[in-house]
Amino acid sequence: MPTPAQPLRLLLLAEDPEWAAQLRECLRTLGGSAVLLTAPNWEAVDSLFCDDRQAVVLATPDLQPAPGRCALPTILLLDTEPTAAPSGVSDWLVRGQLSDDALRRSLRHVRERGVLVATLQRLAEQDPLTGIANRQGFQALLSARLAQHDGRGVALGHLDLDNFRHANDALGHQGGDRLILQVVARLQQQLEAGDQLARLGGDEFALLIDTQRDPSRAQWVAERITEALAEPYWIDGESLLLGCSLGLAHARAQAGADPLMWHAHIAMRQAKAVQGCTFHVFNERINRNARSLADLESELRRALRRDELELHYQPRLSLTDGRIVGLEALVRWRHAERGLLPPGEFVPLAEQSGLIVPLGYWVISRALRDMQWLSERGVAPLHMAVNLSFRQFQDSQLLPTLSRLIIEHGVDARWLEFELTETAVMRRNEQVRQTMDALGRLGVRFSLDDFGTGFSSFVHLNSLPITLLKVDRSFVAGMEQREENRKLVHAMINLAHNLNLEVVAEGVESAEQLGLLRGFGCDQVQGFLVSRPLPVEALVAYLQSAASPALRERW
Ligand code: C2E
Ligand code: CA
Ligand code: CA
Repeated sequence: MPTPAQPLRLLLLAEDPEWAAQLRECLRTLGGSAVLLTAPNWEAVDSLFCDDRQAVVLATPDLQPAPGRCALPTILLLDTEPTAAPSGVSDWLVRGQLSDDALRRSLRHVRERGVLVATLQRLAEQDPLTGIANRQGFQALLSARLAQHDGRGVALGHLDLDNFRHANDALGHQGGDRLILQVVARLQQQLEAGDQLARLGGDEFALLIDTQRDPSRAQWVAERITEALAEPYWIDGESLLLGCSLGLAHARAQAGADPLMWHAHIAMRQAKAVQGCTFHVFNERINRNARSLADLESELRRALRRDELELHYQPRLSLTDGRIVGLEALVRWRHAERGLLPPGEFVPLAEQSGLIVPLGYWVISRALRDMQWLSERGVAPLHMAVNLSFRQFQDSQLLPTLSRLIIEHGVDARWLEFELTETAVMRRNEQVRQTMDALGRLGVRFSLDDFGTGFSSFVHLNSLPITLLKVDRSFVAGMEQREENRKLVHAMINLAHNLNLEVVAEGVESAEQLGLLRGFGCDQVQGFLVSRPLPVEALVAYLQSAASPALRERW
């Protein structure tokens, strides 16, 4: 926020000197809170002000920025009122209507938007319950860490609480949350400056242990952690014990993040074999026979061939009329030894290895087949959402293959929807854009998944053919406890509506969350409260009962 000592810097990019004169005139009433600087071109703005948090660009449309320039908030200066909202900018001003008041309002708008973006960026890397880094924040921490000291001098711990699920069921969600907070407090007590802690998911944590000065430090930190977590917990006057499994792996020079995370994961699974709170250190020699990433990859390849994958469908409920309006297809792997594996266990690997392309085609094809199957059973058409990874977009066969599959299954493409993450669509990749347009012409719709996490730019949003925005479940989860999350979700819903997008809230688990979302004008919800993801046969039964008037009343 600008202080009198730190005026807002308005960087003017306009060939017509009239703009400078008019703006100076308006600025006189703003006192010293803003200064106008004329810049010769975008390159100068980029190199001099890119990191300046007090800078706002005011530019005429004839001076086109170079692609990939830094993301300073920009107000477009126009000679006439635009017919549609200009894309890629924070706001715009029209010459004939320029006044000190209009300028002040515009600057305030840009600043408020900036605050929201900054908050989102911070929250995107933070676990709402505990305030420590989440998976995404952890990945940033880990890569920053491995970029130092040749990638050595650090050990990675992967911690999983044993049967936390049972404790959570017994205690209820709030009790479960309090338990997690106690676990985090105990972990933090054992860590020192230079160590880092993150929550990877419900009951999974990652630790970065600094071993620069003493490589054996990881081991004794692990001993102390397993001792501390083995002590009884007190929740609502009752005591309970939790087991835990901690896997440790030491970073090797220039080996990168993936093998390190994989090794810590293998070690954690080995610790699981022992009851109670235990840890296990990954040992390269012993694990030579363990599944390497390459083994897992070939196993997954085989799974695809042998049809070991399944799709489960999670319903999406419209809050306007209490009807189920859509489904999200979520892939699972029915592994012969390890049971039903969630996508988190193999989709990242598939993305890295490129296997996601054939896997993705399998998913699309199965989803279309099931759409056909549902329609044969008299189920009214529903939007079918399929998750699409960025890699799939880079495949030149996407468009022809998809067109073929749609015809083969005799499905109306207008019911098909692709969920893309922000990180994928915000890359401003021309190919992504063209593929999206071409698929759009087939009738396919797009939604933006995990909204609020990979945050880069609001302004880019309205330039993409997206019809629906899915608010990430981490924001929904923190809504009951945190005012900040409530405000954010509300702001996201308003933002989406301003851009004429529909909003789906993900991960809705409680009636309280549903009530808040309804109050905020959210259009649709998805989450365990409505239904868990279901195999297609169970889905038919669910849809039949959900359509009954008595059940629709429920929402
Ligand atoms: P996503 O797209 O955000 O999918 C929603 C995830 O949230 C699903 O996990 C779903 O089971 C879970 N979920 C739904 N409601 C609730 C709730 O109320 N509470 C909680 N705690 N969780 C809820 P799942 O099935 O494990 O999928 C994880 C991720 O894997 C997905 O996240 C998606 O990014 C990815 N994925 C799943 N299927 C595919 C696929 O076919 N292709 C690609 N590329 N990615 C996929
Ligand atoms: Ca999704
Ligand atoms: Ca999502």
